[in-house]
Amino acid sequence: MNAEQLITNFPLVTKLIKLEEVSWFNPNITTLDVALPYVGLTSLDVADASARLQRFAPYLSLAFPETAVTKGIIESEIETIPAMKSALESRYNQEITGQLLLKKDSHLPISGSIKARGGIYEVLTHAEKLAIAAGMLTTADNYQKLFSEEMRQFFSQFSIAVGSTGNLGMSIGIMSAKIGFKVSVHMSADARQWKKDKLRSHGVIVHEYEQDYGVAVEQGRKAAESDPSCFFIDDENSRTLFLGYSVAGERLKAQFAGADIKVDAEHPLFVYLPCGVGGGPGGVAFGLKLAFGDNVHCIFAEPTHSPCMLLGVHTGLHDNIAVQDLGIDNITAADGLAVGRASGFVGRAMERMLDGYITLHDQHMYDLLGLLDNTQGIRLEPSALAGMPGPAQVSADTAYQARMGFTADRMANATHLVWATGGGMVPEAEMAKYLARATA
Ligand SMILES: *Cc1c(COP(=O)(O)O)cnc(C)c1O
Repeated sequence: MNAEQLITNFPLVTKLIKLEEVSWFNPNITTLDVALPYVGLTSLDVADASARLQRFAPYLSLAFPETAVTKGIIESEIETIPAMKSALESRYNQEITGQLLLKKDSHLPISGSIKARGGIYEVLTHAEKLAIAAGMLTTADNYQKLFSEEMRQFFSQFSIAVGSTGNLGMSIGIMSAKIGFKVSVHMSADARQWKKDKLRSHGVIVHEYEQDYGVAVEQGRKAAESDPSCFFIDDENSRTLFLGYSVAGERLKAQFAGADIKVDAEHPLFVYLPCGVGGGPGGVAFGLKLAFGDNVHCIFAEPTHSPCMLLGVHTGLHDNIAVQDLGIDNITAADGLAVGRASGFVGRAMERMLDGYITLHDQHMYDLLGLLDNTQGIRLEPSALAGMPGPAQVSADTAYQARMGFTADRMANATHLVWATGGGMVPEAEMAKYLARATA
């Protein structure tokens, strides 16, 4: 299909090309029992990931003392943001029905972004496999034994490579170097200098490229192919990364139970997830669906300059199309979201259980960044604000509500959860620059 045919068949594509902000609620979603077989993973796989993270918790609490308070479990808090809710209502001139919460993955330990879920999990999975195969570890051991010079020596025979726009590299780089692996991060042009500096200070080898994420990933893959002791972490297709993210679902369910937040047919939950290649939001959405069933509704958010998942799912072309094929430049200030071609795995696996997709301008993210700082004193990086317009859009979209059976009563009981995916480790001088861009 050429661009003209695409535009004829999918009028929304014209708006994407014009870089307009859009929202699309997919009329073809199904119930979870119909959608689940397409994922190729089950609740058993998520339980396995959860158990693995539990085994590593004693190690993590030693290796990263900042995780000792949560006993080595890397998890973020939820926070109600009522002042932000009011500010959003005035900004959009739209009532947001129900309550508004923030999920602060921005403040996750070790790497300050959602990547502390998937990236760290994949490194640990690889380390466990190698150590067990070498007879140096069993799953019955206390994994604190991995925090030793002997084990670091063992892991130093192996290397890890990854391509990244920044945050995945941070999480995989810091974790790999800590456990003892040699690690190379292949960074795209848009990656921030401070992230490269930080990684190098941890002993990570950083390769820099003039091109975007897709090229950085390809270069990482190539470098790894020529070295049998090197493991390439494939952000575009990894089931392991995906499962690392998915554990968030049961964790959120426990947090909601503790905070007395109800989720059922009368109390719908809407979750707004910033999307880059798709593994992070896809994995989280999968875990949420397993935890809350058809009562959770996931909406992905992307920059107008990088709407790769919306484009792939809407046209059904998935990873057979990139935003650049339509002349969209994939240049955005939103770290982690500057991805032109979505994961083919995530789009195909998850499209039936994702309610919708929104896009927003970079300036819109900056404005919301300033607004959240002003109203709640919470500071995030631009990408982490991508989901923030979602609650007002869902509250306004009467066609979507009618199709889904969200009556006024149900909407009044709704919980809107904006997933804040990064920003906790942004240096102050960088944050000052972000805040200066806010005009709201
Ligand atoms: C990586 C990232 C995302 C999106 O994750 P993907 O797996 O690339 O879709 C969102 N926000 C931030 C801050 C990220 O670093």
